[in-house]
Order: sequence, then structure tokens, then C-alpha cells
Amino acid sequence: MSFPEVRGQREARRGFSRALASGRIAHAYLITGPQGTGKRRLADRVAGALLCPHGGIGGEQPETVGACGTCGSCKAFAGGNHGALSHLEAVGSGKIDIEGIRDLVASLSLRGGGYRVVIVDPAEKMGEAAANALLKTLEEPGSGVVFLLVSHRPAHLLSTIVSRCQRVSCTPLDVEDFAGVLSEHGISGDEITSLHHATGGSPGVALGLAEAIEACGGIESFHAVLDQPPSDPRALAELSPAVSGEAVRDRVLRVSRLLMAGIWARRGESPEERRRAAERSAWIGEISATLERGQSPELALELIARVLKAADPGQLKDELPAALGR
Ligand SMILES: [Zn+2]
Repeated sequence: MSFPEVRGQREARRGFSRALASGRIAHAYLITGPQGTGKRRLADRVAGALLCPHGGIGGEQPETVGACGTCGSCKAFAGGNHGALSHLEAVGSGKIDIEGIRDLVASLSLRGGGYRVVIVDPAEKMGEAAANALLKTLEEPGSGVVFLLVSHRPAHLLSTIVSRCQRVSCTPLDVEDFAGVLSEHGISGDEITSLHHATGGSPGVALGLAEAIEACGGIESFHAVLDQPPSDPRALAELSPAVSGEAVRDRVLRVSRLLMAGIWARRGESPEERRRAAERSAWIGEISATLERGQSPELALELIARVLKAADPGQLKDELPAALGR
């Protein structure tokens, strides 16, 4: 099947291979699905195939669609400087910049022949004004322009954006594909099954968890953080390396996902231990949800530390709801 570099996602890969092979390519695709399941990787592979002169576009052979990897176009693509590929990504404020969209729209009107691809990731980082600036172009982008929007929170997108895109869904990976991705990163063995379960089949989250364990200096120290969080809750953010230009809120959201996966991965076998792990994860999930709705990241870290510290998370139902504003 085409795009073998993307594990799992057979339906999405099949859909793209057929569209590209038939040459009937939509103006805009919206690739959705849980975090860490390969959405961006898929968008990159589709972009590479569209831009490669040997990509099999319109060749009527879905199984051979894909970038050749050796031509000048593919080399420029791999080097991150292909002239026909543009990215709209979140900048310092954590939002996709409206000026960047205006520049892009102007440059698309000047384009020559061949395909031109725009990757928007994560698409939900377009504020309303930015999204509106893109709407008309998304509807009539001009021949050869293909938008690939990537989002794990499609509910946060304007419905007018969603309705202009063809939807492609990525799904959690089965344990075999999941193990395949992790083995590329040197993780294998007995822990795979529990990691698969803990992360809901998201290798991206599992790799983040591995990074958090490394940041702590080993699994024992990571477990110590889960049992007894640092006295300054802000130190919890250190579990996940900062990404340049990323908003603090997004880093804290990532950390909360790692903690949920970590708690679930190390739960004990007794029903009581499983109940506590499930309740802890659920509380952190709820804190994340309020963080996404605009609560301060500092407060979120403080509340997460309280969840970790509580000997029995059952007792939190008396104290956390008020702090969460409900
Ligand atoms: Zn090529």
C-alpha cells in the first residue's frame, strides 16, 4: 500500500492513494484523529507525493503513489525548502498568525504550474479572523493548490472551514502497528502492551512518555513524580521539553496527557488500584478540559499536583469542583 512510512491508518492511506492516482484531488483535506497517531506524518507524505514529478499523480495506480525520494523535488522537500510547499503553523502567541495567512493568500495568486501544497497544523490554532482570512482561498484556491489541514480538535474549527474540506480520519493504532513505531525509536519488549493500553494506541503519546521518563532520569524517578509531585508544581512542566514558539498552555496540556498515560501504565492489578488510577486520570482529564477553555496553566499545574498527592482521589470530589469552576 502507498505511504508505508505511515503505520496503521490503512483507510486514510487508501483514500489518499486512490484520489492521487485518479488525479481527482480535493482543494482541501482535513485530517483529524487522536494526537500522536500519525496525522502530520500522513500530511507530509501526501504533500511529498503531490510535489514529486514521479509521485504517480493521475497515473491510475494507487499502489505506486508516493514520492520517489531521490529527485530534486524530493531532496528540496526533505531539506525543508521546497518552493511549492508552505506551512501555516502556530507562532509565539500560540496562534496561527493572520499576517502569515494574508501573505500566503497573496503568494498563491502568483503561482505557476504544478502542484502547490499548504499544510496547516494544528488547524484549530487559527483564530476566527485568521480562519476567515483563509475561507475564500480554501473554497477556490486556484488550480493545483492543495490544502492539508491537520487537527486533533476539529470541534474547535469554524464550521465554515470544516465544510470546505474533505474529511480524512486517523484512528488509534493496533498493538502491532504501535509496536512497529516504537521499535523505530528503540522501545520494545514487555512494556509495549501496557503502553498501548495506557496511551489508547497513540505512539506519539507513548514516545512523549518515554521522553518524560528520560527527563526524570529513569522510570523510578518518573514514578516518584507520580507518587509525590515536586513542591513547586511548575516543575511538572519540565516533564516535556519546551517546543520553540509554543504557548505554555500547550506544553501543560501535553504534560497532562503524559501524566494520564503514566498513571494508567503503572496502575496496579487490584480493582482498588485500578479505580484510583482511573479516577486520577479522569481528574487530570477534567483539568485539561478547563485549561483548554482558558484556565491559567499555573493553576492547572497546581491542581494536577493536588490530584497526584491525594492518597485517595475519591476525596477530591469535595475540593476540586470548586477550583475547576463548576
Ligand atoms: Zn521525487
